[in-house]
Amino acid sequence: MNAGILQAALLSMILIISIWVPSLQAMEWSATQGDVVTVDIIAPAKSVNLKCFNRAWPVKLIGKEHWRGWIGVDLKKKPGAYNISWTSGARTVAKDSLVVGKGKFRISHIKVSKKMAVFDKPTLTRIRAETKALKATYKQHVEATPDITMDGKPTEGIESTPFGAQRYVNGEPRSPHSGVDIAAPAGTVIRTPLAGQVLLVANMYLNGNTVSIGHGNGLVTVYAHMQSIAVRQGEWVKTHQLIGKVGSTGRSTGPHLHWGIRFNNARINPESLLK
Ligand SMILES: [Zn+2]
Repeated sequence: MNAGILQAALLSMILIISIWVPSLQAMEWSATQGDVVTVDIIAPAKSVNLKCFNRAWPVKLIGKEHWRGWIGVDLKKKPGAYNISWTSGARTVAKDSLVVGKGKFRISHIKVSKKMAVFDKPTLTRIRAETKALKATYKQHVEATPDITMDGKPTEGIESTPFGAQRYVNGEPRSPHSGVDIAAPAGTVIRTPLAGQVLLVANMYLNGNTVSIGHGNGLVTVYAHMQSIAVRQGEWVKTHQLIGKVGSTGRSTGPHLHWGIRFNNARINPESLLK
């Protein structure tokens, strides 16, 4: 074998090896409850599947051989180390771990009328049915829209209750706050920060006038306590389309928008998906 052939053979070996060298770089290796972790993957593959928490997460090709993936960490995800892996075809290309830490959430007390805190049987039946219908939308399949991140907040205003706050209603502990509350004058317009399909339009006992929008890729956004709703169930909406107005319907202590996001059913901080 002459030197030239040997060199070519070595070079092609190096190329083959370099093609399969796994590369997984998370912008945030550690995450806290409610975060969205962005994972960058360099792979000359036709498709990439990203897995974490025993489920698949969306990936997008954002440059030459450059994929970006998103993983949602539920508000109550048990702190600890979890496996992240990505595969191409039948081949597992890389594995690593994501360390989830406990979120630091504040305490929030609200005082409401007795009928909004203690429920009789028919009201409880109504609340349960409404909650079930809303939760069903978190798992509803919707054709993926081109984007995953949110183009701004749905309304202008001041954050009145942050994501994850431990709620006390009339002194009694309740579920943690699964979204952000944005206080704004009644009638302020609400626009969807991402295109999608309206999955639910409902007047709920606790959430008041509520809209749920599916964006595909396992993403569902929820808007509650609205004064009025400008969309119909089943309708497709464009990014920044008007969907309703800020109000104080349901269990609410003043005009505000409750904005929540479910990502593969995980309760995540909406701010972690802002562009
Ligand atoms: Zn809220």
